[in-house]
Amino acid sequence: MAQAEIGLIGLGVMGSNLALNIAEKGNTIAVFNRTTERTDEFFQEAGDLQDRVIPCKTIEEFVAAIKPPRPIIIMIKAGDAVDQQMETLKPYLQAHDIMIDAGNANFRDTMRRFEALKDSGLTFIGMGVSGGEEGARHGPSIMVGGTEESWKRVEKVLTSIAARYEGDPCVAWLGENGAGHFVKTIHNGIEYADMQMIAEIYGILRDGLKMQASEIADVFGGWNKGRLNSFLIEISEIVLRAKDDIGGGPLVDVILDKAGQKGTGKWSVIEAQNMGVPATGIEAAVAARSLSSMKAEREAAETTLGLPDVPALAVSDKAAFIADLENALLAAKIGAYAQGFAVLSAASKEFSWNLPMPTIARIWRAGCIIRSEFLDEITQAFTETPDAANLIVTPAFAKTVKETDGALRRVVSAAVLAGLPVPALASALGYFDSYRRGRGTANMIQAQRDYFGAHGYDRTDGADSHHGPWGSGLVSERS
Ligand code: NAP
Repeated sequence: MAQAEIGLIGLGVMGSNLALNIAEKGNTIAVFNRTTERTDEFFQEAGDLQDRVIPCKTIEEFVAAIKPPRPIIIMIKAGDAVDQQMETLKPYLQAHDIMIDAGNANFRDTMRRFEALKDSGLTFIGMGVSGGEEGARHGPSIMVGGTEESWKRVEKVLTSIAARYEGDPCVAWLGENGAGHFVKTIHNGIEYADMQMIAEIYGILRDGLKMQASEIADVFGGWNKGRLNSFLIEISEIVLRAKDDIGGGPLVDVILDKAGQKGTGKWSVIEAQNMGVPATGIEAAVAARSLSSMKAEREAAETTLGLPDVPALAVSDKAAFIADLENALLAAKIGAYAQGFAVLSAASKEFSWNLPMPTIARIWRAGCIIRSEFLDEITQAFTETPDAANLIVTPAFAKTVKETDGALRRVVSAAVLAGLPVPALASALGYFDSYRRGRGTANMIQAQRDYFGAHGYDRTDGADSHHGPWGSGLVSERS
């Protein structure tokens, strides 16, 4: 067999599917896995694609099987394992070979790895891959960070395996070093917010309107034909229709309400905070997952405090309220995406990446977990208004926000009055209301800061910094 076009290390869920995808698209691939039995198993699974797969049992054999300059995808557990794998691989490589970390790396690790290899003659690509198992097998969304030269070496293979939206491949080179993994992290942060908002709407339908899982599935099915059309709404409907093999009822009703998280949501929030960009939807979603995991504490609190002593959700026109829920979810989703893109924009400046916003929205339209037609609208908005300060002030989205924020306000108000938790939906409303108000309330904060810490303040009638005078008030009289 001829030498492979590319190599892949790590035949777990993602790696094995990605390798089959690469082989299926006509590329020859060499594969290696730490546990060699898995390599044999994988080769059997490759079936008809075996003639394009070179299974290797040693790193030496693996490296020799790939055509130089060698692009090698490392798709293993994120963290120290990647550093260890890179160290093992390094002595076998030659100048211009490319190590590609395709796992969910923290972009700061990617920047460190990129720097560490800089003078070695080797190159590093940090590559975000989204779409889970199915995406990896049949077309993921791929976010590439590294040198443009290294991208040119892998462009053909990656383009062949990426998802397609109306024929357009969902892969792009986004910038140097950590750009690809940063964009993937924010993709996941937005995903957290989107999922939390859907869960809150589900909660209003289940606990507020007392609807059964199958009825909620019908609602989501209807929404999936409209502007909320997306993978997440689609799978929410499927999930709500699934039956429990054991008890026979809806499966969703017997799933414990404790959400897991692996870190990308938290990283999104940390980086947003580091850059001073509000990402309240992602923050609310990460906090909600943390709160969800405190199951025993929540149960104890329900015993101590009881549920809020408030009237049940008051809805006179159920159909109108469900229409409001659809628009509320759309408005809140716009808020979360606007925040995610604002974080990307700040990071682009901070790390000199020159991130292409329309391209990012374009490669998220298919293959990834947040894929939706809505992202096509974002692509258009950023293409038409590249210098917009925020997605919500682009003409198209400003119009939609104005059309839907009333529904969001009614839904959040109704949920709050009925004691139903909607932290992410409410965060979007708070974001809109704060962002669109030219005169806010931070004058009070500045006055307080100046009073107790002499931090100074600017006046509305001039830019000079001032301090006091605050006179003698209650505090000094008491002390
Ligand atoms: P997985 O099924 O658990 O497979 C883990 C792989 O990592 C196995 O091949 C394992 O080899 C290898 N590995 C673990 N520790 C290693 C070490 N110290 N040295 C060498 N190899 C090691 O994981 P996965 O779901 O495919 O995830 C792989 C990466 O993709 C992770 O970074 C994950 O966050 C990311 N990701 C996952 C998804 C998803 O939906 N699952 C989506 C996007 C990105 P052995 O067989 O020898 O244990």
